[in-house]
Amino acid sequence: MDPSIRLLRELVAINSVNPTLVPGAPGEHAVAGLVAAEMRRCHLDVSVESIAPGRPNVVGVLEGRTKGKGRSLMFCGHTDTVGVAGMTDPFTPVERGGRLYGRGAQDMKGGVAAMIAAAAAVANGGGLASGRLIVAAVVDEEHSSIGADALVKAWRADAAIVTEPTNLDIAVGHKGFAWVEVDVKGRAAHGSRPAEGQDAILRLGRVLARLEELDASLQARPPHALVGTGSLHASFVQGGNELSSYPDRATLQMERRILPTEPEGTALAEVQQILDALVREDATFRGTAKAMFSRPGYEVPGNHELPQALAAAIGRVGGQPRITGASFWTDAAILGLAGIPSILFGPGGAGLHSNEEYVNVADVVMCRDTLVELATQWMGRLR
Ligand SMILES: [Zn+2]
Repeated sequence: MDPSIRLLRELVAINSVNPTLVPGAPGEHAVAGLVAAEMRRCHLDVSVESIAPGRPNVVGVLEGRTKGKGRSLMFCGHTDTVGVAGMTDPFTPVERGGRLYGRGAQDMKGGVAAMIAAAAAVANGGGLASGRLIVAAVVDEEHSSIGADALVKAWRADAAIVTEPTNLDIAVGHKGFAWVEVDVKGRAAHGSRPAEGQDAILRLGRVLARLEELDASLQARPPHALVGTGSLHASFVQGGNELSSYPDRATLQMERRILPTEPEGTALAEVQQILDALVREDATFRGTAKAMFSRPGYEVPGNHELPQALAAAIGRVGGQPRITGASFWTDAAILGLAGIPSILFGPGGAGLHSNEEYVNVADVVMCRDTLVELATQWMGRLR
């Protein structure tokens, strides 16, 4: 069995469900132990960095022969997974028809196995002539990326590959997201006294109607070449006290997906415009909006050589390089904004976050081989 697939099977067999997403889940502790042991076996310099109790990042370094000279490259992947509700046997890796099934197989233990196996192949093949390869396995991407946030405070590289699943395409950018809360005030009154009551829920309806129009207009704009258009959806609504009363308050929590070219504050500004317009139409309307959390979109600088270098590496292992974008958010944005130009490249599969997840076995091997080629070319290898 290819060593990358053996490692993938071992990674999938360890439950590393994110404990912030699923309270009581074990988190990344055990899987980080396996990752660290695997990195030590191929003589990387390993640091285990506790980010939260029981939740360590693992960073392995392969230093070139000319210590401190030459370029550096980082491979980065997350070790947590989403929950397993609805899955019958999520931690037993099953290989069938060229696919490996199990929670995290695609998102993203396939990519993590490929990047570690690539570092092992470079190390066992004589090491690097110069430069530095950094392999980072980080926690918590599926919730709020505390792992990547901590990683970029301690580590630097000239470029990075985030091995999230891309079907072996080169994804040079992705969307961001912003969560906004809207609070609409009404006036409580007995249901029989319409002159006194102001219905906060119906008033929130005015906001919702405008948001639906805004979403339609966002999706009708000319699309970004890589990631398409922005969009929004209402995630939660809450309000009301009892059947026979006018509700005094209604709250909406919503998400806006933002383009790499849109500032993070776009969503809040759009919602504020809607609220301002509603006040102009009816002076008794009272609503406020606040930002809850956001992450920007990201795009590698257009003239950066990393996508070309990766395309060349793909060609050398017999693949067909394709440049694309990803619709989902990833840690590449955190690395990129911290000054480490980053792109996504990982194996194909399907079912991420659903109850039948798999990765294409041949893609994991191809991903590993491509990363070896890239590292060799980027830093120079001893023969
Ligand atoms: Zn992922």
